Formats: sequence, C-alpha cells, structure tokens
Amino acid sequence: MNPVSQRETPIQTVRGMHDILPGKSADVIRIETKAREVFSRFGYQEIRTPVLESTDLFERAIGQTTDIVEKEMFTLKDRGERSLCLRPEGTAGVVRSLIENGLLNQSAAVKLFYVGPMFRAERPQKGRYREFIQIGSEYFGNASPAADAETIHLVLEILRSAGIESVETRLNSIGCGECRPKYLEQLLQFLKGKSPELCRDCQNRMERNPLRALDCKEDSAKLSDAPKPQDHLCENCRSHFETLKKLLRAAGIQFEIVSNLVRGLDYYTRTVFEIYPLEKTGSQDALAAGGRYDKLVEELGGEPTPAVGFALGVERVLNQIAEEKEEASAVSKGIFVAAMGEPAMEKSFQLMSQLRSRGFTAEGTLNQQSLKSQMRLADKLAMRFCLIIGENELKENFATLRDLKNQSQEKVPFDQIETALKQRLEI
Ligand code: AMP
Repeated sequence: MNPVSQRETPIQTVRGMHDILPGKSADVIRIETKAREVFSRFGYQEIRTPVLESTDLFERAIGQTTDIVEKEMFTLKDRGERSLCLRPEGTAGVVRSLIENGLLNQSAAVKLFYVGPMFRAERPQKGRYREFIQIGSEYFGNASPAADAETIHLVLEILRSAGIESVETRLNSIGCGECRPKYLEQLLQFLKGKSPELCRDCQNRMERNPLRALDCKEDSAKLSDAPKPQDHLCENCRSHFETLKKLLRAAGIQFEIVSNLVRGLDYYTRTVFEIYPLEKTGSQDALAAGGRYDKLVEELGGEPTPAVGFALGVERVLNQIAEEKEEASAVSKGIFVAAMGEPAMEKSFQLMSQLRSRGFTAEGTLNQQSLKSQMRLADKLAMRFCLIIGENELKENFATLRDLKNQSQEKVPFDQIETALKQRLEI
C-alpha cells in the first residue's frame, strides 16, 4: 500500500482544554477590553507574570490541604529536575513578582490587575475547564474595609460593562490570625463529633484544615449547624466587617451574608465574597470570587502588607451572557398580522405598518394564504401575538388578538390595539 495515501489520526486538544475559535475570540477580547477600561477608571495598572512558576510558590500561597494543591495542579519537572507548575491562579505570582521586584516599597498602595490563562486539572464540565482565562485585581497596602468595598464594586462594574447586571453577591468574614485559631478549635470539636458521617476528604483534612469542611458540597447538609466563623470574630474583625457592610449599603450594593462561605484557597483573612448569576438562568457556578489576604505577602517573604483582590472567569461570563441572550430571545415580542380574505388586506397592511412605526416587531404575509398557513408561519417566526383581521372584524371595527403562548383569544377595538399590546408585552 502507498503510505502517502494513509491518513494520520488527527490530534485533538488535551482533555479539558479548548480552542477559542475566531467567532468566540472577538467576545473574549470585548470582555477583556471592557475590563481594562473599568480598571483604568479605578486606578489599576496591568501586570503580566509568567504562566510557569515554581511549585513551592503555590504550595506556600494556596495551602497544602486545598483541592487546588492536592489534586488540581499541572506539575512538571524541568531538565534540572526542578518542580514547576502551570499557574492555577493569579494572586501568588503577582505577590511573588512584587516582592522580587521591590515594588511594594515604592508607594503606599499598589493597585494591579492581570488577565491571562490559568490551569487546573478539575473534572471538565460546563463552566469548569482545565485552562481558563481569569481577569483579576490585587490591591496592596490598604487595610481599610474601603478597599474591600472598592474591590467588590470593581467586580460588579466589570460584570456590568460585560452586560451582566443580575447577580447575587455573597459575603462573609472568616476572621484573622487572632480569632480564627480559637474558632477552628471549636469547629474541629464539632467535626470530630460528626466524623463517621463525613466524606473522605473532610475526614482526611479535618485536623489539618477544618475550615474547608464548611464549603464541602457533599457534607453541607450534615454541617448546617456547625459553628460559623462570623459568630467568633474578634473585635477588630467584627468592626472591619460591619464597616464593609455599611460602605456597600452606602454605595447601593446589595449583598447576602452567607455564613458558611469560606473559599477554596487558604490565604484569605477576614472578607471573602463570591458573585453568582441570579437564579433564573440556573447556573450553579460563581462568576467571580475574592477576598482579603493580609498575611500572604509576609508568608511569601515580603514586608507585612495588607491586600485584597478578586478573580473572574472569562468563560463563565461568556456562558452567562449567552444564556441570558437565549432567554431574552425565547421571550418573543413579535406580532403577526393575519388577513383573512381580500378586503382585510388593506387594514392588515395599515395595522402592520402602524405597529412597526411605533417600535413593535411586526410581520404578516398579506398574500391571501389560509389562516392555518399564516398561523404556521407565525409559529415558525416565534411570534408572541397574532392580530387576525377578517370580514367580521372589519365590519365591527375590532381585531381578534390571539395569544400564541397560551392560545387565548379576545376582541380588541382597532383604536385600542397599541395599548392592549403594550400592556400584554409589559413595554
Ligand atoms: P478562584 O480562583 O477559585 O477563586 O475562582 C475565581 C473565578 O475563576 C471563578 O469564580 C470562576 O469564574 C473562575 N474559575 C475558577 N476555576 C475555573 C475553571 N476550572 N474553569 C473555568 N473558570 C474557572
């Protein structure tokens, strides 16, 4: 056989990785461009750090007992047998860079943002990929709750600029080095009491990282009466949290306190938050998340520096926009004008033109088809209402208004058609 004629098996993307094809890349660029505009309004500058970092960095920053470090890192050895990782998140690399480049000594506050790919070997599913793009910010050197409030406002503005307004902001405080150890002791006692009922992950991590049990999806019902961080905050953490809530309210930002919100990364202190799409679209995944991490710079070898930040998943934002668009187009506002017989043509045409001039989406065949085939077309065009004009209607000056969704029908005088449609379409 001629080997030239043999086709090679095509090579596919690695599991969980995906191409951003030409149509989609424009959407990604649009989101990134909008985010950059918002960052600039809030006084943030861009930083770009390498995709590859030493494994130690993430083990130290994110925590040995987190899902990311335990199960999800893409780790490889270089030729010198050094362990390297494809970054699973952005904050650790940014902090490493600031310390390495001495940037924290130059001014009191440093406000940075990043945009780029992150890698986590999670089980692939919709909204959960092994390579995904995050947009994030880090605000260093400001311990005030105003920086937390600004960060939350910043994420909401970025989402809004991307076209997502209906979101729920979930908020909690998980305390600091002073109050958390005492709280964790109490939590551990509680978990030990429940130990036989808990999942293997929770049992394994209980001693090393009891807080993680609180956001375990498998055990959430069993742990609903576990002690909550919020009830064990020290005076400083409580006052920080109270001021944050006040600032958010003053800025008109709505939020929900979710007392078992702890986040999957160990570096957080005090404020943690997650932003979800509002329930109607049914997505269970957070669009963005973040919080304060006052100890991380120090833990990675820098001067003690308070900090707060967030990260948003670009693919999740795009999925959400697509779902909202689908929903909006599913609720059609179109009106089909059906004419029965030659004499009704003129009135139907006049009605259709009038509706179009007044901003309605209107359609009609006007070529003497049977009512049945006109209704079939209305259905195909996903119209919401149909106005039927026939001999009777012309004689008595009304149109038959049929609701194509629930198939109800009523008579509406010609001069009240616009009002009737506006009411029913809620416009
Ligand atoms: P995290 O870094 O875990 O706090 O996540 C912050 C945001 O990044 C999430 O709210 C998601 O929007 C996004 N994200 C995290 N993990 C993934 C993933 N595996 N696939 C897609 N987006 C993700």
